[in-house]
Amino acid sequence: MTDWLSLATEGVRSLTPYEPGKPEEELERELGISDPVKLASNENPLGPSPRAVEAMRGLLAGVARYPDGHGFALKQALSRHLGVDPGWITLGNGSNDVLDLVARAFLGPRRSAVFSRHAFAVYPIATQAVGARARVAAALPADHPDQPFGHDLQAMREAVASDTRVIFIANPNNPTGTWVEGTHLRAFLESLPAEVICVVDEAYAEYVEEPAYPDTARWLDDFPNLVVTRTFSKIHGLAGLRVGYGISRPEVADLLNRVRQPFNVNSLGQAAAVAALEDEEHLRRSRELNRRGLVQLRDGLRARGLRWIPSIGNFLTVDVGRAAGPVYQALLREGVIVRPVANYGFPEHLRVTVGTEVQNTRFLQALDRVLGR
Ligand SMILES: *Cc1c(COP(=O)(O)O)cnc(C)c1O
Repeated sequence: MTDWLSLATEGVRSLTPYEPGKPEEELERELGISDPVKLASNENPLGPSPRAVEAMRGLLAGVARYPDGHGFALKQALSRHLGVDPGWITLGNGSNDVLDLVARAFLGPRRSAVFSRHAFAVYPIATQAVGARARVAAALPADHPDQPFGHDLQAMREAVASDTRVIFIANPNNPTGTWVEGTHLRAFLESLPAEVICVVDEAYAEYVEEPAYPDTARWLDDFPNLVVTRTFSKIHGLAGLRVGYGISRPEVADLLNRVRQPFNVNSLGQAAAVAALEDEEHLRRSRELNRRGLVQLRDGLRARGLRWIPSIGNFLTVDVGRAAGPVYQALLREGVIVRPVANYGFPEHLRVTVGTEVQNTRFLQALDRVLGR
């Protein structure tokens, strides 16, 4: 018998696959539940911009052609939108792809990446897959007044070793929803050795309304080792198309581009992303719905005596006060899909995406039945 495990590289041997949120169709198939509500993957409950859908419609017949491998139109649109040169943008098949490009360009055996405990699950996967070592910094304590379980930048700085080439910071972080202020992040970047690439993953940036949240895309003149990543999967409502991007200095973008698959972003995704970027009204409505939904969920949880980690994203991670696995399963039988986060070190929490008012109510009422309140 072949020992397949021994054939894999060392990093891959100890990896566990990413566990995505359960698709609605799967719940329908497995439990025969009709009309489930999915609040498990931080998708936009309003769906995509109608303009993005329209942009794709006109292109359907053209899919025999390869997409633009340079993503010219999308980079132009992003360049206008962000005020950076198109050469500073790296397109990805989702921003996860960009995280992977960073790992492949800068990590490998005898190198390490630093990230926080409870940070986004793709960081350890990208790191280990290329044979690099993960140096996991302790998070802020559970009783921290503002950012419980959040990134501890001091601990992260101390975790940087001579073999460290990449740092991943999620701002805000998923699944905690915690964030780092501009002044703290700036001081952290100033303290870093020049050879360490600092990735600031801003998948939820467009939702954030905190005045102290940094505008990192404007910091690249000061910090040539900075890579900012953003995505069309969250507020733009295009998760199924897989479009994300990195913003970095052109010297770094050139290196990322060397390991990028030539046609990593499909033609429909590129066109939809251009249209989505321009639909300010859809963004405004999405932000507004999220703002109200966060209030609704917090009020509902507070009324039920439950606690949550304060979040500035489009999700809340809730302490259910008991083993969360059975609560998750019971919610599934109620037709509500949320996200277990035991793999993030939270065995008694569940992450719920902010939905529409009706969806949030369904979640809260299902929670009542499941928790026996
Ligand atoms: C959702 C998410 C992403 C984005 O994933 P895509 O590959 O762009 O769909 C990146 N980082 C964090 C922290 C996320 O939560």
